Amino acid sequence: MIRAETFRNKRVAVFGLGGSGLVVARALLDGGAEVAGWDDGEAGRSAAEADGIPLVDLSDADWSEFAALVLAPGVPLTHPEPHWAVKLANDAGVEIIGDMELFARTRAQSHPAASVVAITGTNGKSTTTALITHVLEKLGVDVEMGGNIGKAVLSLEPPALDRVHVLEVSSYQIDLAPTFEPTVGVLLNITPDHIDRHGTLENYAAVKARLISNSDRAVVGIDDDLTKAVAENYDEPSRLYAITAGKGAAIIPRAYAIGTSLFARAEEDRGHSSSTKVASLTGIGSLRGPHNVQNALAVLAVLRALQDHKDALAESEAADVVWDIPNVWRPTEFQAALASFPGLPHRMEDVGDAHGVLYVNDSKATNAEATAKALSAFEDNIYWIVGGKPKEGGIASLEPFFSRIKKAYLIGDAAAEFAETLEGKVPYQRCGKLDVAVAAAASQSESARIEGGKMSAVVLFSPACASFDQFKNFEVRGDTFRDYVGALPEIKLTSETSA
Ligand code: ADP
Repeated sequence: MIRAETFRNKRVAVFGLGGSGLVVARALLDGGAEVAGWDDGEAGRSAAEADGIPLVDLSDADWSEFAALVLAPGVPLTHPEPHWAVKLANDAGVEIIGDMELFARTRAQSHPAASVVAITGTNGKSTTTALITHVLEKLGVDVEMGGNIGKAVLSLEPPALDRVHVLEVSSYQIDLAPTFEPTVGVLLNITPDHIDRHGTLENYAAVKARLISNSDRAVVGIDDDLTKAVAENYDEPSRLYAITAGKGAAIIPRAYAIGTSLFARAEEDRGHSSSTKVASLTGIGSLRGPHNVQNALAVLAVLRALQDHKDALAESEAADVVWDIPNVWRPTEFQAALASFPGLPHRMEDVGDAHGVLYVNDSKATNAEATAKALSAFEDNIYWIVGGKPKEGGIASLEPFFSRIKKAYLIGDAAAEFAETLEGKVPYQRCGKLDVAVAAAASQSESARIEGGKMSAVVLFSPACASFDQFKNFEVRGDTFRDYVGALPEIKLTSETSA
């Protein structure tokens, strides 16, 4: 647990008492601040009360007393319109920050040189954050992982010179963290998303770009126009680690991929073609699909950037800072570290196999874009379970992948709409519920496999829809799929074989 000491003896308003808000309030109290916590919901307020956090109705408080408002990341700052607590803070000239900013200030005060890797982007943040953590741990580094994934940042161990913090940051968190200056900032990609919160795509991109311009070194994916522009505008090219899984990049990348092979290029080799193949993702079940090539490249570039930073510190004249972490640029160990990545639940997760049919849980795919990634990971013989609460546009954009699909099993509210899209193109069956879909896909994929002899097939649960019509959230939906698969006869569960 980190103590937030920069507000000692000051009065701080904390709005939004969910998981991270409660941690914020506790970190401030432990750091000697006077806390006034509040939430619109009764549940948050009672949780705070149970934790001994003082409650003050902020709609009726004297805002001139507050040194800051610490806002939970889900509370609207500007769009669609500022929350009432934000308006009151603005009217009173009270600064508004988030938990990442408290972390940044604590680090600046105690260990400004402690290493922090911060990951953002529209897609792949969690996977990349978890993969960086996994690889660094394999290399013997003391890592603390959190932020937008797993633990709230202030519940981690404090920054230290022998430790690396690996933090996933959403654009909401960047918005509320003006002085957050990571050692290495990672920007994977930017596609239209969360525009409701940031107003325009340009604004959303500008928020993400800020994390990068505030970083000592920057790893930037250059496969989309918006992130490419961020890379081009980064003021210190020698500290830029561009990565690409595409072709013909205008910027010379430090790490790139051809198919599933990952290559690293040394800084001295800029402009030359010499580079080293460092790893291949072929056969790594937890990193299937082209999107994971970008995520793995980001990890490779982070290792290079951390090593360069360490070397630069050691060489600098004012070398009073000694980073006590092992050398992390050990490319020969990278392949094995990637191969042992267990993956994250609900993202292309291998659940098990039976009779040569693989079962994959991709419940996190709540839109067609994410499902496109899943479908592109398998060449053919896909038995696709799809549906839920549909998003605008449905699955029409997935037509390029239809030839890979043997049959679709439709569930949830989307069934009628998706049936229309698939009509005459892909055989489908309306199943209604997930258990019916799993049973049908299991029996039909198995018989197809037997008829086809050597064929292997995949039952892919990648719903391309929100879960709320039938499930509490995508996690519960994925757990339910896993349970149904676990009950199939002769299933060999991956968790059992790898344990
Ligand atoms: P986030 O934390 O940004 O939501 P995740 O790592 O949880 O991202 O991945 C969510 C989904 O996004 C994955 O199931 C996959 O479909 C897609 N995805 C993952 N990595 C990438 C990437 N680098 N580029 C595009 N899409 C990706």
